Amino acid sequence: MTVTSFASGPISTNAIVISSNGEAVIIDPAPGSTERIIEHVKDLNVRSIILTHTHWDHIADCAALKEKFKVPVYVHPEDAGNLAEPGSDGVPMLAPIRGVKPDEFLEDGQEIKVGGLTLVVMHTPGHAPGHCCLYCEGDKFLVSGDQLFRGSIGNLALPTGEPDRMWGSLELLAKLPPDTVVYPGHGEMTTIGEETWLPRAKEIFGGE
Ligand SMILES: [Zn+2]
Ligand SMILES: [Zn+2]
Repeated sequence: MTVTSFASGPISTNAIVISSNGEAVIIDPAPGSTERIIEHVKDLNVRSIILTHTHWDHIADCAALKEKFKVPVYVHPEDAGNLAEPGSDGVPMLAPIRGVKPDEFLEDGQEIKVGGLTLVVMHTPGHAPGHCCLYCEGDKFLVSGDQLFRGSIGNLALPTGEPDRMWGSLELLAKLPPDTVVYPGHGEMTTIGEETWLPRAKEIFGGE
């Protein structure tokens, strides 16, 4: 099993490839990540593209990679509109982006198999209404998108931000085993245990 991040684009968004037993999934095809992802997966059977959410920096290369691999794109229904019509979420884009028709809808608790491992979809709204994290209990890692970063949380001031839903989502993440490795949508890896502030997130980041 390997998890590889490709920091890409003007705000250094982490595109992520998870592979196991010759199969791979691509998560959050960030701007300018296509070439490196194609090279990385050249001996792997790519099964799908999964989106943690559809802010422009997480979907910019989705159309190109979908055309290349002819695989289904998974997105939560509450974030699907901005995939089909990028920019319709009201978040300013730094570059024009091609829309993609979603193929499959993510649902809380859904299991997605990649080779020998199982990813469980956790619907974690707050930063975006359809935001999902992907949790692998067997190999003890979490793809946290823009919900949880090393030392911080996703931006709640964007038009898609919903602080009231954020705190419950972070409580779910705080309950994961402390040795769970976290691969965020921006910045460095961390673990749940290192983010000791998580249970106090509302107190720290919710102040008005
Ligand atoms: Zn985002
Ligand atoms: Zn982002």
